Amino acid sequence: MQIYADHAATTKPGKTAVRAMLSCMEQNYGNPSSLHQVGQRAAEALVKARQEMADCLGCTAREIYFTSGGSEADNQALRSAAWHGAQNGKKHIISTAIEHHAILHTLKQLEEEGFSVTLLEVDENGRVTPEQVAAAIRPDTCLVSVMFANNEIGTIEPIAGIGAVCREKGVLFHTDAVQAAGHLAIHVQEMHIDMLSLSAHKFCGPKGVGALYVRRDVPLRSLICGGGQERGKRAGTENLPAIVGMAAAFREACAAIPAHAAYVSALRDRLIAGLSRIPHSTLNGDPQQRLPGNVHFCFEGVEGESLLLLLDAKGICASSGSACSSGSLDPSHVLLAIGRPREAAHGSLRLTLSEENTSEEVDYMLQVIPEVVSYLRKLSPVWRDMEEGRIPHVI
Ligand SMILES: *Cc1c(COP(=O)(O)O)cnc(C)c1O
Repeated sequence: MQIYADHAATTKPGKTAVRAMLSCMEQNYGNPSSLHQVGQRAAEALVKARQEMADCLGCTAREIYFTSGGSEADNQALRSAAWHGAQNGKKHIISTAIEHHAILHTLKQLEEEGFSVTLLEVDENGRVTPEQVAAAIRPDTCLVSVMFANNEIGTIEPIAGIGAVCREKGVLFHTDAVQAAGHLAIHVQEMHIDMLSLSAHKFCGPKGVGALYVRRDVPLRSLICGGGQERGKRAGTENLPAIVGMAAAFREACAAIPAHAAYVSALRDRLIAGLSRIPHSTLNGDPQQRLPGNVHFCFEGVEGESLLLLLDAKGICASSGSACSSGSLDPSHVLLAIGRPREAAHGSLRLTLSEENTSEEVDYMLQVIPEVVSYLRKLSPVWRDMEEGRIPHVI
């Protein structure tokens, strides 16, 4: 048995996307900037893909810029807003403590370049409120960036409310919607979103391609200079097969949101109910405002890495948090931000499901995970000290 339960790290490209990409590579290899027929056919495919992306987000095709993925879209949104803010003497940016590193590390660089950054704290479920955002806005604030949904603990933020606050105060609002796009309904106009990042490989599209939505009237600055592609805002010959594959995957994912969300969240809830029965365990993230496929726990007295290796040996592909931070020994910044003690944060497990997962797989995980947790606890001197009362339990 091989169970893939790491869909927040990446997804398997869907058949529709793969077919669209293959046919593009085989038959539509032109450069969209070429004036001849072969080039113009490629340009038409690009126009069509841009329109499909726009239709799914509730914006116009002119407001979509293709990028190499979520990280590039995040970098460009932040750097562009910062650059334009600085032109008007506004050098303050508001974000949250639980953002993806594509946001946090860009903000760190901007701080080194003289910007001031306020990272809002989140509550024990990982939520920020529109009121917190409103209170943090200053006369020199040029940007608010709050993620749509968290990649580790699955918490969904009150994006429409935050958007309304920013619009009212005249501050630009960006959201990293990489985990939400294709999984939750998004309407950029109704939600007052000025800029939004997404990435194809998180919704069954190819890797290495994404998009940045930028509301018309919002100035955008390029990160990559060169040719005039993407209306001069992102140079480089377009990765047409990937763009076409992303548009096919996005259209398919968006049409299936209600059906997939119902199916996947039922699997999620059964997994959460079952794993909650493990003693000294705690669910991380908001119990209600939660991505349909996200299950995230801390188990006391267990090392996350050992847990992952043993689960892998049993055919379960999981994660201890985000793929990006595994390999480092620091506990997750997200778990620390929601107040988990360091000891507990080390014993974390993230299972992220999709419509490809089955009820039988959930049964198997509910059988195997409690066994592996108790096996690891038997080997742990820390756990023994806790059980025998020499040190206190933290969860
Ligand atoms: C995966 C992810 C990214 C990065 O996207 P890439 O396309 O892999 O660069 C950014 N933000 C969030 C929330 C993510 O989950």
